[in-house]
Amino acid sequence: MTARPLLLVTGGSRGIGAAVVLKAAKAGYDVLINFRSDEASAQAVAEQARALGATAEIIQADTATEEGITAIFAAVDRFGRLDALVNNAGVVDQTARVEDFDRARLDRMFAVNVIGKIRCATEAVKRISTKHGGQGGVIVNISSMAAVLGSPGQYVDYAAAKAAVDTFTVGLSREVATEGIRVNAVRPGIIETDIHASGGLPDRARDLAPTVPMQRPGSADEVADSVLYLLSPQASYVTGAILNVSGGR
Ligand code: NAP
Repeated sequence: MTARPLLLVTGGSRGIGAAVVLKAAKAGYDVLINFRSDEASAQAVAEQARALGATAEIIQADTATEEGITAIFAAVDRFGRLDALVNNAGVVDQTARVEDFDRARLDRMFAVNVIGKIRCATEAVKRISTKHGGQGGVIVNISSMAAVLGSPGQYVDYAAAKAAVDTFTVGLSREVATEGIRVNAVRPGIIETDIHASGGLPDRARDLAPTVPMQRPGSADEVADSVLYLLSPQASYVTGAILNVSGGR
């Protein structure tokens, strides 16, 4: 056990999650980096975090499954402490209209983007709530501006899942407000990461830039800066907040 706080980042092997890991390592956290499939990328992020002075471990696990949740929190318990959770792992699907959605798509969309996040928060609360003998801590959920905009013609199911993340954030923040836990969310707008390619639109961030008041996509680092603020003592009176990081969109 070290004196540095432990941050668990789900989906920390690339994109926004990896940016959070590296900024947190620089800010003095140890990091537990969850990923689902790309071990080489997770290892590379862990090595960069170690070079910044952190103890960094990786844990392969699908947050959409109970086996995955068990594996993640067994890894947390091997660390012997938990101070913060960034509930980041998330997926889109191929862009489609609602008539083309099938049940399997919806099950995966909600299993990863909603249930996985609620399960991670549940296990985190059990470990950090003062009600359960913990020291308190911070949870940051990664939502999306899709929760507000609805993503018509692209993935309204993803948008609906992110709206559930927003509501969960507000409700949980109030439920645990006297137990030493702050719970907030960040709503990224159009951010340059690989997630767009996974939805079949590799150029989506660049193509949508003209729809952004600031006329450009954001970077994973810009989202991570907001997450680090919400994790920090500078946000000590901020809970139940949902911060748009979207260039005005
Ligand atoms: P990304 O580049 O596609 O990275 C996703 C990360 O999540 C990867 O590390 C991936 O691991 C991991 N992951 C995916 N499904 C997982 C699962 N079931 N269990 C564990 N890990 C899983 O995505 P991103 O753009 O950084 O997005 C991060 C978060 O921001 C998501 O919640 C997303 O909805 C949200 N967001 C993104 C944007 C945007 O424009 N990029 C906008 C709004 C909100 P593997 O690579 O190993 O599979």
